[in-house]
Amino acid sequence: MVITFLVLLFLNIYCSSTSQTLFYKNKESTMVERCLNAASDIAQMQVLNHAAVESAVEQMGNPENTRLIVTNSSSQIIYDSVAHNAEGAYAILPEILQALGGNKVFSCNYYDSTIVSRCAVPIYSYGTLTGVFYMMEPDPEQGLLIATLERNILSVSLVLELAVIVYSLFFSKRFTQRLKRIRNSMNIIRGGDYSHKVTVGGKDELTLLGDAFNALTERLDTSETKRRQFVSDASHELKTPLASIKLLSDSILQNDMDMDTVKEFVEDIGNEADRLNRMSSKLLSLTRIEAQIDSASEIIIMEPTVDRVIRMLSGIAQENNIQILRDYQQDSPILILEDDLYQITFNLVENGIKYNRPGGTLTVSLARDNDTAILRVADTGVGIPEDAIGHLFERFYRVDKARSRKSGGSGLGLAIVRNMVERNSGSISVESTHGKGSVFTVSFPIFDTEAVD
Ligand code: ADP
Repeated sequence: MVITFLVLLFLNIYCSSTSQTLFYKNKESTMVERCLNAASDIAQMQVLNHAAVESAVEQMGNPENTRLIVTNSSSQIIYDSVAHNAEGAYAILPEILQALGGNKVFSCNYYDSTIVSRCAVPIYSYGTLTGVFYMMEPDPEQGLLIATLERNILSVSLVLELAVIVYSLFFSKRFTQRLKRIRNSMNIIRGGDYSHKVTVGGKDELTLLGDAFNALTERLDTSETKRRQFVSDASHELKTPLASIKLLSDSILQNDMDMDTVKEFVEDIGNEADRLNRMSSKLLSLTRIEAQIDSASEIIIMEPTVDRVIRMLSGIAQENNIQILRDYQQDSPILILEDDLYQITFNLVENGIKYNRPGGTLTVSLARDNDTAILRVADTGVGIPEDAIGHLFERFYRVDKARSRKSGGSGLGLAIVRNMVERNSGSISVESTHGKGSVFTVSFPIFDTEAVD
């Protein structure tokens, strides 16, 4: 508002002064010329007296409203077209006094819608200053023109300034209202209501800010829900082995048992403690993956790591009478954390053994499909029901809780696998026929070593 006010003020002053200057310049040239002509006419007279000057002035055709004064060299008025009785008196008009010093003088002023111009020139006769010719001319028409121009510019400026004030007030009110809405929403969300959405309205940067803010709270909301779910799942899962330990220890204390039964119970307590231990280290590894603590990826081929896992688990496979087959068609370099690849393969092969049938097989294949390296683990086990496939990678999810618990499962293995696959830019899918077996397929982008060279 202030800037527009200053600009308009400048425009008003500039237009008014420019139009006046233009007029003054024009007027000066014509008026000085007229005065010089009259002065040279008067200079040719033999005697400089009232009658002679009057006749010369009449010949010039003196326009109405113009005041003419002719003085002699000592500033004594010889002729005055308005105040006839002033003759003989001394003229004290500043223009006349300056012209007596031999200068051409012109001045113009604008007051009350009228312009008054004054001009005085010295009269030289044969090189000697004999008097001064003075002319004063009011220009009401020009003055009116300038006044109208000024008035028009002023009214346009006032309308403009008013529009700016109204618009600014409206805009700033609306702007602060929308900002207030964002601030209120922030307060609500700070209070813990992550489902709250801010509605800013409009279609500008503030709307974008509101959308970004909503996206942020949506993420917060999901991660908060996940966190709550995780805490409740984890405590639920930890409760079961703890309850078993408590039950077993109470039974030992309360019942009179023979040593063999006590040994059996203590063994069970040990197994439950092992399960708790496994679960807590898996939970820890999940948290570490999500916090992305490890980050030293390397370019490797999968075969040596996969072989290491098979060697590690072949004992358990033999115990369960399961045959592990290798089907390495093509191995390709991938950029991955070696420990992650080991853990991914370990969890998948371990599941393939755990959820297999005695006498079944487990096939581990390595292949290539265009730009992806593929690790496939296929078993001939119990398979997975169709409605369970979508939940398989959720934390603590188990299709058959009793069977999984019996085999020491925690429902965290596949969640870890998926997190590790994704953090190494891979993807995982599963196909299964319930009762016949499952195939887990993991794909990683092949690392193009030539492109790097
Ligand atoms: P768990 O520690 O219970 O094995 P996982 O996350 O590894 O946890 O697996 C989740 C569930 O998915 C298992 O409880 C099991 O029911 C099912 N599952 C995983 N792998 C297989 C498989 N190869 N065949 C059949 N079911 C499987």
